[in-house]
Amino acid sequence: MPTTSARSLARKLAELPGVAVAEDLPLAEKTRFGIGGPADLYLETPCESSLVEALRLLDAASIPRAMLGGGTNVIVADEGFRGAVLHYTGARMERSGLSIHVDAGAELQRLVDEANAAGLKGLETLAGIPGTVGGAVYGNAGAYGHSISECVREVRVWDGERVGCLTAEACAFDYRESVFKRQRRWVILAVSLELQPGDPAELTRRSAELVALRREKYPPEMRCAGSIFKNLIYDRLPPRARAAFPPELVREGKAPAAWFLEQVGAKGMRCGDIVVAAHHANLIYNAGAGTARQLCELIAELKRRVRERFDLELEEEVQFLGPHPGGGLTSSLCPA
Ligand SMILES: Cc1cc2nc3c(=O)[nH]c(=O)nc-3n(C[C@H](O)[C@H](O)[C@H](O)COP(=O)(O)OP(=O)(O)OC[C@H]3O[C@@H](n4cnc5c(N)ncnc54)[C@H](O)[C@@H]3O)c2cc1C
Repeated sequence: MPTTSARSLARKLAELPGVAVAEDLPLAEKTRFGIGGPADLYLETPCESSLVEALRLLDAASIPRAMLGGGTNVIVADEGFRGAVLHYTGARMERSGLSIHVDAGAELQRLVDEANAAGLKGLETLAGIPGTVGGAVYGNAGAYGHSISECVREVRVWDGERVGCLTAEACAFDYRESVFKRQRRWVILAVSLELQPGDPAELTRRSAELVALRREKYPPEMRCAGSIFKNLIYDRLPPRARAAFPPELVREGKAPAAWFLEQVGAKGMRCGDIVVAAHHANLIYNAGAGTARQLCELIAELKRRVRERFDLELEEEVQFLGPHPGGGLTSSLCPA
């Protein structure tokens, strides 16, 4: 950003009620991977009207902007982000009958706990997915055969011009997909969910069981983004991949990306300090001083191997923020 106008804009933003602005904030501090260079501006607020006003001011000044939730599903470029990164911390939650209305900045886990305790069924399998409600709606987060879209009734959105509500249908949810992945300027402000009656003890027990399973797969200290690649819809596999994949391994209509990755020797591969987990071929973590460049190189190499062997294009579930280094094999990439 040009410095004089950037400074006066930063001052204007900081004057909005409830807004904190930092300049050149290292985004590595804000992501689970612990990777990423600085954002020119980093803005945090729990106040919806201030967030919307900040978005208006940034757009009027043509300053690039991006939302960051819990930072659990992003790769931030080593160069950082030239523009403003916004983090909404609004987390109000209101329950009425079988409905919950929740601000996008709330932790997903808090929403799951609230629903379980109130005997509201539908979110219990999402227990242990880190991040915010906004991030979960953006990527239609889910686990164990269910995703958040099954419970979403309406999403409150800033569409670049005004605040409005989208029906679940207009959100165009699909497996780890939503309209928000295509409309990158839209910002999720709040979500209304419709749940089913359930038994609080049973829902809490189910969630606790799944959280324990997750802890084994993703230890809390592991710097990762969960699965790097989306699983594959079995019925949409190209012929060569379908012929190779054992049908008995299909789960909820999906062929796990991990199976294809395992066949091409992914487990234990590394690029600098970026490592494919030895116990899970679709899990990549930062073992120390890994960089976004190394992470993208490893991702590109895994995609290349799967493409060549199975004629299958893996798609990243993880999202990118800032310039993408492009990938391509370099000497820093080490085989398993
Ligand atoms: C250990 C571990 C396990 C995981 N397991 C699962 C799993 O089982 N299932 C699953 O689906 N995911 C899983 N994930 C991935 C991740 O937790 C989810 O995708 C989560 O929903 C991301 O939320 P977040 O707030 O961290 O989003 P971020 O990582 O901060 O952002 C992700 C994307 O959402 C956008 N975004 C965030 N908030 C908003 C908003 N308010 N408006 C518009 N766009 C927004 C960002 O711009 C970015 O493009 C896992 C991650 C980890 C680290």
